[in-house]
Amino acid sequence: MPYPQSPRWRRRLPVPLAAATAVVLLVSPAAATAPQPAAPADAGPVAGEQASVVEVLLDGTAELDALVATGVDLDHHVERTEDGVVAHAVVTPSEAARLTAAGFTLGDALYRPEDSRARIAEREATIAAHVAENREFAAAASDPTAPDVSDVKIIRADYYTSGTSQILSVEAKWAQGQTASNTLTVERDSGPGTAMGSGGTQTISRFVDAGVYLYHRGAATVTARPEYVRITSPTGDVAVAKVREWLPTPETSPEPPGYQKDFVTSYLTPTELYARIHQLAAEFPDLAEIVELPYKTNGYRRHAQAVLGAANASRVAVDSLAWGHEGGNDISVELANPGPGNATTGVTVIGSHIRVNLATDAAGAVTSTAAQVVAALNSGAGSLVRAYTYRGSPGTGVVAPAPRTPLTDDLSAPASVSRDPHPVYAIRIGKHRDGTKTGVLAYAQEHAREWVPPLVTIETAERLLRNYAHDGRTKQLLNNLDIWIAPSINPDGGHYSFYDFNSQRKNMTNHCPLTGAADFLGRDSWGVDVNRNYTEYSLFDGYSGASSSCTSGTYAGPSELSEPEDKNLDWLASRPNIKFSMNLHSSGNYFMWSPGAYALPDRTSAPRPSLADESFFWGASSRILTAIKQHRNMAVTPARTGPISDVLYSAAGNSGDMLWYKYGIYAWNFEVGTSFQPQWDEAHDETMEFANGLVELMRVARDYASDKKRPESTLTIAPSSTPGMVNVTFDVSEPAAVFYTLDGAAPTYESTLYGSAGVREGGETLTVPAGTRVNWFSVDAAGNVENNYQPDGNGKNYRKGQAVLPTS
Ligand SMILES: [Zn+2]
Repeated sequence: MPYPQSPRWRRRLPVPLAAATAVVLLVSPAAATAPQPAAPADAGPVAGEQASVVEVLLDGTAELDALVATGVDLDHHVERTEDGVVAHAVVTPSEAARLTAAGFTLGDALYRPEDSRARIAEREATIAAHVAENREFAAAASDPTAPDVSDVKIIRADYYTSGTSQILSVEAKWAQGQTASNTLTVERDSGPGTAMGSGGTQTISRFVDAGVYLYHRGAATVTARPEYVRITSPTGDVAVAKVREWLPTPETSPEPPGYQKDFVTSYLTPTELYARIHQLAAEFPDLAEIVELPYKTNGYRRHAQAVLGAANASRVAVDSLAWGHEGGNDISVELANPGPGNATTGVTVIGSHIRVNLATDAAGAVTSTAAQVVAALNSGAGSLVRAYTYRGSPGTGVVAPAPRTPLTDDLSAPASVSRDPHPVYAIRIGKHRDGTKTGVLAYAQEHAREWVPPLVTIETAERLLRNYAHDGRTKQLLNNLDIWIAPSINPDGGHYSFYDFNSQRKNMTNHCPLTGAADFLGRDSWGVDVNRNYTEYSLFDGYSGASSSCTSGTYAGPSELSEPEDKNLDWLASRPNIKFSMNLHSSGNYFMWSPGAYALPDRTSAPRPSLADESFFWGASSRILTAIKQHRNMAVTPARTGPISDVLYSAAGNSGDMLWYKYGIYAWNFEVGTSFQPQWDEAHDETMEFANGLVELMRVARDYASDKKRPESTLTIAPSSTPGMVNVTFDVSEPAAVFYTLDGAAPTYESTLYGSAGVREGGETLTVPAGTRVNWFSVDAAGNVENNYQPDGNGKNYRKGQAVLPTS
């Protein structure tokens, strides 16, 4: 938890929509009999009441039917649990009271009117802040008394090498960027002391997402490292910035001679990944152990299925009741033409073969419709199969005779891949695995088809374990950290992607209804996007970048944390000592953190990290990306580094956001490499370079855990364009928060937190009356306070200054 001492600085958590603020209205003993089949006669809307979404806890299907019969507004969510059925009802307080009076048991309120109000208030605050920021920038830029203020501002100018290329990446904000579509031209010098423009020019383009202008950006190949760049905006305003080097080569390698690495030689299936970590834990029992996570998956298994017929209205879909490997695959279905003479529809079952004799007219033509065949199958062979018309069709089409057709689960993995609900494993690495050390979590393969990220976790685990005995720096990591590595969060989908459908992204669980895509032909589209099923800023909270369609690639599932894969990660993240995490995906060579979601139409973002947290993310990121680059000089670009929703897109309900917002974990996301399943030489290089980065994350965590260094800060006073005022900024020696007062009071954690000037920018400029007393202190991510000041005590050793211009 960053800066845990600071109640004010603690991230403003969203209103807990799924919080257990229960309106639990327990059934009284008298009412605890079977519910009445219908609500009382006075049931009806009460004007002026707002509705909540409330769980209704039901014993079983009969009680569900009784609930439906009351006519209550259900939101389609019906979940069958071991204890019965949970439905969601959208009810007002008086409707809830009537349900209770009728004998129903209500559970938690999942969404309340105050949730909506809080959402709206948050949205309005965000919009207001955005508008204020733009107005401030535009006003400053057009202030004739302020010749020093330009309408264009260079946010970043990064020079870096990647492969054999030299590249300059520039980001700039222009006050007219929301409304004017102009590109901006960047002039370069060609090194120290050279003329501006001598290094050529490049153009940068608007980065607009969800209709909101964020900034201009663009990268170009250069032939020399510029020292300065200049942008002249379309209105003639000018901005100049010094070029920084992005990911410079460090002077010393963190890997001493004899450091062992390069442990993977091929892609590994989830079964093989788990076997590998079991071997490692067995080989290093003092340093590692295997943890089976609490939830098994639903399993690499399906029911055996077939769809008979061609035209939708005459198609018959058939599913075995047994799993395919438990007898379903032995079942076959035949639609037989019995020949002439007014035959009636009939079903015979011989062993596991189901023969449907179709009805005919006097001339011997088949007359059975799909709906009739479905009914005949369900009544004549209902102990073996379930039949239904195709995708909600009424089934009025006459079926065609079909030869004996085997049902199949269509799963091709060898028998060595278990068909049972699958355990999910993590390897826990560290000399002291008792929760007393700073925890680090790395996890991969939320998305099944991403085959390189699991290898990065295996390579990292082996480097840590095999170098412990002879490398002092590795020993420091394992002696001081509690490292959790889960190489495959989604083993069912992972197996499916190896053996059946290479593009599988989601898990294998079929949430489609029989009237939808539940049939055999829908099988490659089923599944929940495991990385959209988490609890923070999700689809269910109104955020963008996930789908409610069961066949969508970003299907968020029926509810938050509906999937065992997601429950497992939630359990891992709730280990109280975990402070850092890496969510490994592919591809794109991105490196990202929160916020990862926004709501449309106004792109209302999840809360941004504080300036200090953002600085910490950037600082650690530069270490991690430098380590990655050391393998083959591949640079993750500055344009692909930053908050997910700044550099990529919104991903509602992703795991990184859950770890950051719900658990206060510094949570990063890798998008490894260039494709999901690259050729092995490339996959191997990606594994090596991102394992460098993951080991460096461990070093970041180690430095955090041992950080006793106090931050130092300085106050800078500059002239303001407003008479009688001066501009004040703070600088800190390391990523650290600054709390300040302007009224002479001692600063505390309740004081104002120094903020960011804007997206991807540094600290804000405070404009205050000349002579203002400024009192402040800084505190770093590990909780070290400048000067050892105690903000909650009576000490006077905070920093003090006065907002007066230095005399020259
Ligand atoms: Zn992914």
